[in-house]
Amino acid sequence: MATEIRIGHGFDVHRLRRGRKLILGGVTIPHSAGLVGHSDADVLLHALINALLGAMGEGDIGTHFPDSDPRYKDIESGMLLAEVLLIMRRKRFKLINADVTLMAQRPKLAPHYAAMRKKVAGQLKVVESKINIKATTTEKLGWVGKGEGMAATAVVLLSR
Ligand code: MG
Repeated sequence: MATEIRIGHGFDVHRLRRGRKLILGGVTIPHSAGLVGHSDADVLLHALINALLGAMGEGDIGTHFPDSDPRYKDIESGMLLAEVLLIMRRKRFKLINADVTLMAQRPKLAPHYAAMRKKVAGQLKVVESKINIKATTTEKLGWVGKGEGMAATAVVLLSR
């Protein structure tokens, strides 16, 4: 059977609040504010999960892990990613690569790229070269630029 290649795209936004832990790609990043959400609000992993589900034709994160379900309250998003990996395996999909862009005015995220990449690759059980993580500010424009929140986009390619 011919190899099937599927693309997926994900996007997510979370609000920032002072005194919350900032968790991106499963890595805790020192900052005066963290993201707010029903789960740990890991905007990077949420965008990635939506891209993976999208590539598989499996809807989105809210379909699989509804925020009305108390089981997902404050859950580590890495645990949701682990469940998505099980769906990938069941459907025989393999990750070709993932490319993620974070949008955040502060803190500087470049010093954390390597740790996030390592963590995400480990969670997806792939070599680090299949994962790319980068970030941009929005030049102080808009709600990201004012530090009100962060956003992330992700694209993935899967094969089976
Ligand atoms: Mg989210």
